[in-house]
Amino acid sequence: MLAVGDTMTAYRIVAWGEPPRLTDAPVPEPGPGEVLVEVAGNGLCHSDVTMAAMPAEVADALGWSLPFTLGHEVGGRVAALGDGVAGFAVGEAVALVSPASCGVCPACRRGHDSACPHGLAGRGYGRDGGLARYVVAPAPRGVVRLGGLDPLAAGPLTDAGATSHHAVARVVPRLEGGDTAVVVGAGGLGAFAVQLLRALAPEARVVAVDTNPARRAVALDLGAHEAVEDVREAAAPGAAGAVLDLVGTDATIAAGVAAVRPYGAFALVGAAGGTLRRPWFGGLPRDADVFSFQGSSIADVTAVVALAGAGRIRSEIDVFPLTRVADAYAALEAGTLRGRAVVTPDA
Ligand SMILES: [Zn+2]
Ligand SMILES: [Zn+2]
Repeated sequence: MLAVGDTMTAYRIVAWGEPPRLTDAPVPEPGPGEVLVEVAGNGLCHSDVTMAAMPAEVADALGWSLPFTLGHEVGGRVAALGDGVAGFAVGEAVALVSPASCGVCPACRRGHDSACPHGLAGRGYGRDGGLARYVVAPAPRGVVRLGGLDPLAAGPLTDAGATSHHAVARVVPRLEGGDTAVVVGAGGLGAFAVQLLRALAPEARVVAVDTNPARRAVALDLGAHEAVEDVREAAAPGAAGAVLDLVGTDATIAAGVAAVRPYGAFALVGAAGGTLRRPWFGGLPRDADVFSFQGSSIADVTAVVALAGAGRIRSEIDVFPLTRVADAYAALEAGTLRGRAVVTPDA
């Protein structure tokens, strides 16, 4: 049984400008309308690394205060219910929706909760996340039931999976039978994008692009029809129905936009900070959708969990114990992982 005052090991940002570290943190208590979740696995995201290097003034402007526990891809089991929570059972497998949203603003009411103005801090960014044994979440808004899915592998569905889903769902209406859909970057998000395109656009020919041969092999394993090193090998200029750029450098953006056919779609998801220098009029594929975004909505998380539950997509993971979390981030940075790194407190 948990007692008030118990502590746990957590991987936290303690001071801006310093690397995150394993430290003691209090076991949280679920407040009214919250559940306590025992973490089974937490997926690591490249944005965690960016966050840890964030200047203090930027964090202050977002309203984030220290310390907080990193980790925004959480799968686990309900451990306790706060006052007023109904409909969840202790022991039930769940995944958490990490972005915060209010549920009542115009964006939320239209289902665009990823654009909620109250979402600047979320679980694992500004608030305590899943790199610890326990975490709290608002219920039902922040909790998605997993049914028979393994909570150890489910965390990446909620962020890498849901973010890819947001982009794929938006380009699918632009794809016509036999079109080529190109996924640039076959890492954590790309592995989901390939599978989601196969599931949601079954007539499209899916080509993954990655400079890393191991990732190309994973993409083929997950259903890509072809995997190549360069966007220009994936489709002739103006020939692709859709390009999803999950990298986002000057080079991938330029090659990706050039590959899109008229009435196709180009989605920028990758955060590498590249620039597109083309005249807006006449310089883009005619009548195409060219868009960028970050994040995902609760509906995306729910859709991805349902597809995983039906066996139509899966989470490829490399598991690390919490004691080796720094090694897991190093492997993520070095590009040596086969799947998404998932950290478990059970070791
Ligand atoms: Zn993320
Ligand atoms: Zn809102």
